[in-house]
Amino acid sequence: MTSPTPFQPDAGIEVVPGVGPRLAAVLGRLDIATVRDLLDHIPMRYEHEHAEATIAEIEASLPDEEGAAANVSIRGEIAAIKVPPGRRPRIEVTLEDETGTVQLVWFNAPWLRNKLRPGLRIVAEGRAKRWRGYLQIGNPQWREEDDVDETPARDERLRPVYPASEDLPSRRIEEFVTRILTPATDVLVDPLPETIRQSRVLNRLGEAYRGIHQPESLRDAANARRRLAFDELLLLQLGVMMKRQHLRETMKAAPLPMSPEIEQRILSRFPFELTPDQRQVCHEIGADLAREVPTNRLLQGDVGAGKTAVAVHAMLLAAAHGHQSAIMAPTGILAEQHHASISRMLEGAKVEVGLLTGSTPAREKRELLARIASGDAKLLIGTHALLSEGTVFDDLALVIIDEQHRFGVEQRSKLRRPNEAGRVPHVLVMTATPIPRTLSLTVFGDLDVSVIQHLPPGRIPTVTRVVPPSKAADVYGYLAERVASGEQGFVVVPAVEESEMGLADVENHLKMLAAGPLSGVRLGAVHGRMSRDEREAIMDRFRARDIDVLVATVVIEVGVDVPNATVMVVEHAERFGLAQLHQLRGRVGRGEKRGVCALIGEPTTDEGRRRLEAIGGTNDGFEIAELDLGIRGPGELFGARQSGLPPFRVADLIKDLDLLRLARQDASAWIERDHRLLGPDAVEMRRLLLDRYGATLGLGDVG
Ligand code: ADP
Ligand code: MG
Repeated sequence: MTSPTPFQPDAGIEVVPGVGPRLAAVLGRLDIATVRDLLDHIPMRYEHEHAEATIAEIEASLPDEEGAAANVSIRGEIAAIKVPPGRRPRIEVTLEDETGTVQLVWFNAPWLRNKLRPGLRIVAEGRAKRWRGYLQIGNPQWREEDDVDETPARDERLRPVYPASEDLPSRRIEEFVTRILTPATDVLVDPLPETIRQSRVLNRLGEAYRGIHQPESLRDAANARRRLAFDELLLLQLGVMMKRQHLRETMKAAPLPMSPEIEQRILSRFPFELTPDQRQVCHEIGADLAREVPTNRLLQGDVGAGKTAVAVHAMLLAAAHGHQSAIMAPTGILAEQHHASISRMLEGAKVEVGLLTGSTPAREKRELLARIASGDAKLLIGTHALLSEGTVFDDLALVIIDEQHRFGVEQRSKLRRPNEAGRVPHVLVMTATPIPRTLSLTVFGDLDVSVIQHLPPGRIPTVTRVVPPSKAADVYGYLAERVASGEQGFVVVPAVEESEMGLADVENHLKMLAAGPLSGVRLGAVHGRMSRDEREAIMDRFRARDIDVLVATVVIEVGVDVPNATVMVVEHAERFGLAQLHQLRGRVGRGEKRGVCALIGEPTTDEGRRRLEAIGGTNDGFEIAELDLGIRGPGELFGARQSGLPPFRVADLIKDLDLLRLARQDASAWIERDHRLLGPDAVEMRRLLLDRYGATLGLGDVG
């Protein structure tokens, strides 16, 4: 080990000179607890700081003629303040240092009158010029000279601006960083093997920290940032891949090989021919399921692509081998819907199907749990209630998670508890809300991916129109026409109760429609506050065409499948997320007639306007997902948040996609040659990895 120095990366922040318990607490609120945290507290941006000069020096350096100018930074004391009368509000300050005076003039900044006072020491920066015999700076940048000991900058340089707090300005943070930067980076162990570092043309770690905190140039800072971002991306990829490798080596699932007879039996259950895409995907999944290695696959397919059939195909394969399987949906409604359609498909078959959701009545639930535990119930359909501690399966061989962006890495690893026979289930996750490429490479980076590209035949792309509220009557007129010709529709409103001012709520909106634009149309309401029985009854009537138009909240967002429904109206569309709107409109256009989606909305924000433009502009779910990411930014990533993974400090999933690809390649090669990172070149990386992701990725058992 290196000689002892107080600035070991894991040392508590109080080793920094000047940081006592009080400041340590303040730093703690910025998530800075150790020396390494301080190094990892990355500047948000940089300001150009000009070399400071005395007023005499500036006088001497400027050419003698009127109007001659130079960029300067001057430190001095306010000698006088004047607010001359005139039409244009103006503040004139006389600043003096030991060598002379300069005049500072601000226009249109009356509030400065309360901030500036004679005697105050400030640093002013700006363009100084000769003006009527004076040296004058117009609208200078300024700040109070800090009370802390601050050495004046004698060179032009970049000054870091840190995320700061009211109690702790950026300048203080900079001061602390300056105190430790060299000694701390001197003892840092660079976790990156030299071969990777060189092949990716990356800074050394110490160099990167010095470059990010005290760059000579913006280019310097960018290079430094690239190295630090690479490390973060690599670390996550290593974690995800190590975990996956570990699963492959140690966990076993029940092998479920396909045979021509089984295949025949399964296919005869479907009321349609599988599309080539569906067949291909079933084949990929089948190849996984045939092995003892637990399947960990993601099935992507746009709304209406026909993922349910693929799921049922796999579940019936499990049943054919006498094993249990479960499909989990994000909402009760969707689970009920799956249950209804799967039961219909399996009419007359011997296999027992069960439904378990949050609204399953207690007695029914007890009975079902007993049949799950005994292994009699073979196909289970439900919400996350299926995963709760109370559910004990006899022999669960396959778990399918529908609309998986709500299930992160952690939830998936929960599924991986071995049963008595030491087996874990195969896991298949399905999503219609496409996962942006960046996310599928990170949070879901441990999954194999299958994609259904093409929708089942005969689909005509849904037409989407954004309509201002003033034209709502036309929209409902159109809906009434389509209903008159035998079709059905949805009206989606944002809130269940009239809690928010002016927002349509289900019951009121239904009354309004019944009394006006849709009088004579048979209406029904569905929302999340209804009991399962009430909801099911309404949905059954809608499917049976006893109800023409369903007024609903987003409970119908996913999965509802009524091919005769062709028109979707969304009220207050600006309130919905992009992915949500795409899901919603996926509820229509599922049959042979063209679907129409009218988004009634008046965006009040720029973001809202961009969302509506985007959704009106494309039907491509993958494009929408990327746009969504672009509009909302990585902090808002769906999935990322639920994943439970600590956020990146430096890396940015939008900007760093290319870097992410490189990191992924390197991580993959590294894990390939050293499955558990036990090699001598991996010591530091492994330590960092367990430290950062050990808990969330459940890597404890790997080491
Ligand atoms: P999603 O991928 O959104 O879950 P679904 O599985 O709900 O899509 O399927 C959408 C609709 O397409 C359903 O009505 C389903 O019956 C129908 N469908 C699925 N596969 C086919 C197929 N191969 N041929 C015809 N219709 C299909
Ligand atoms: Mg579905």
